[in-house]
Amino acid sequence: MPILATTPTLKISSHELSQIRQLTELKSSSGSHSPSLTTMQESLPDINVAIDACYLSNPLATDLFWKFFNSDVQMDDQLFRRIVEAYPAQNANIAERLAPAIGVDSSRILMANGATEAIQAIIHNYASHLHVNVPTFSPYYEFATPGHQITTFQSHKEDGFALDPVQYVDSVVKSGADAAILISPNNPDGYMIPRGDLNWILDRLSYLRTIVLDESFLHFGLDAPPGVLPSLVSVTEAYPNVSIVKSMSKDFGIAGIRAGYAVMAPDRVKELLDHGYLWNINGMAEYFFLLMTRRNFITEYLGVLREYRGAVSRFTARTANADYVTAYPTSANFQLMELPPGLPADLITTLMLVRHGVYVRNCDDKIGLDGEFIRVAIRTEKENHQIISALEDVISSV
Ligand SMILES: *Cc1c(COP(=O)(O)O)cnc(C)c1O
Repeated sequence: MPILATTPTLKISSHELSQIRQLTELKSSSGSHSPSLTTMQESLPDINVAIDACYLSNPLATDLFWKFFNSDVQMDDQLFRRIVEAYPAQNANIAERLAPAIGVDSSRILMANGATEAIQAIIHNYASHLHVNVPTFSPYYEFATPGHQITTFQSHKEDGFALDPVQYVDSVVKSGADAAILISPNNPDGYMIPRGDLNWILDRLSYLRTIVLDESFLHFGLDAPPGVLPSLVSVTEAYPNVSIVKSMSKDFGIAGIRAGYAVMAPDRVKELLDHGYLWNINGMAEYFFLLMTRRNFITEYLGVLREYRGAVSRFTARTANADYVTAYPTSANFQLMELPPGLPADLITTLMLVRHGVYVRNCDDKIGLDGEFIRVAIRTEKENHQIISALEDVISSV
């Protein structure tokens, strides 16, 4: 809904109106991804972003990374110089060291410069017709080339965005696609496919050339045995057409480092590495992946994850009872919320930003969302209180 058409009836100052105009312009020049914080602060210096609840990272894990990095740099004063000066290890070499932490043989691992790079590799090499559930993470259809065909399966807000396995499989089969994309928990709605449904789906779709199973948010939704990182990588052994895609950006709070990987059939990894991806893991990402092989880092990370998941459930317990938005149940570290009738998402997100410095995601550009939606990243306990107050305040004031 265009905000400026609705503003005359709403209580907004002329200064706010000009900020709204500037932000709308900035957003439209950033395509389907939100402008980064730096970009926003450069273009609109009078807006002070106090809380970034747009990007979806675990802030406690960023603190943990920072603690380990600082202590390692202190113990070895050449560490950072080496990271900058030297070539990082090669893709397959990092995969080999990381394999025990991931829990599969290294021949199945393609290290990636962010999961986005793995998504691109899979779509460009092992798919020609993609069947995508919508709403979804947009690169899954944006990375399709003019030679790709795309069809969609719609999940519905009335069902809490649940994926009906029978309808889904039926839709994949009828589409004629050779590749299906599943994200669990899904971005932007947070729905996690139950394990029984997932196995059923993978069995029925074993005829496909490729199934992408993106588990970038799985740490927030799945309980694993003590000491173990939640993951579905073992399914790639039973189903050779499945590629697991994993971003480290969200659960480890390190989006800037660009670290991710995919787990898939060894012949595919070999083929991809034979033709590229040699030094795609930069020195900082290599440092991070080595941290993942350290027992004490994983133990502390799992502690931080437990604490953060506590904050996530306290947040969702509060929003579940809210009468000012419809908050959808989530298994991830963010929540999709539908605004009351007549309140456009771009207006609410902009007012939260200019009045409270709280940056949340306006979902206007998400295909497959029918209504006015925002997506709120869940953060620290203290920030979550501020996010909820900002939301309540803005919605009650317009
Ligand atoms: C953010 C995201 C990614 C990509 O993350 P990278 O930063 O490229 O590692 C992949 N899949 C989903 C579902 C995401 O939300």
